[in-house]
Formats: sequence, structure tokens, C-alpha cells
Amino acid sequence: MRVIADTNRCLGAGQCVLADPERFDQAEDGIVVVLRAEAADLAEQEELRETVSHCPSRALSLAD
Ligand code: SF4
Repeated sequence: MRVIADTNRCLGAGQCVLADPERFDQAEDGIVVVLRAEAADLAEQEELRETVSHCPSRALSLAD
């Protein structure tokens, strides 16, 4: 599983960075930067699903 960020939808709210700073960062303009897209094991995938669900602009999605 991997996460995809739509930078056109991102509002720079930073929820993803707060939830998982090892995976997400923000550029100077606040727009999300994915540091690590892949989630290999089940625990990581569950954590990633949780983070994606909290994005207020639905800028994050999951793919296999
Ligand atoms: S939580 Fe969503 S809107 Fe906020 S920075 Fe992350 S991707 Fe952008």
C-alpha cells in the first residue's frame, strides 16, 4: 500500500504532519510533501489509513 497526495487539494492544514511526521512534511507554502509513500506491514497500513481519514481536504488517498 502507498499514499498519494493531491497537492492541488491540500490546504496545508498539517494534520498529516502532526499525525505522522516521519511520513509527511510540509513545504514552505504549507503544502504536503510525502517523505515515505509505502506502508509495508499491517500496523503501518492501519496507521496510514487513520492519517488519511483525518485530512480535512481529502487530499490523501491510498493505492495498492
Ligand atoms: S492533512 Fe491534508 S490538507 Fe493538511 S497538510 Fe496533510 S494533505 Fe494537506
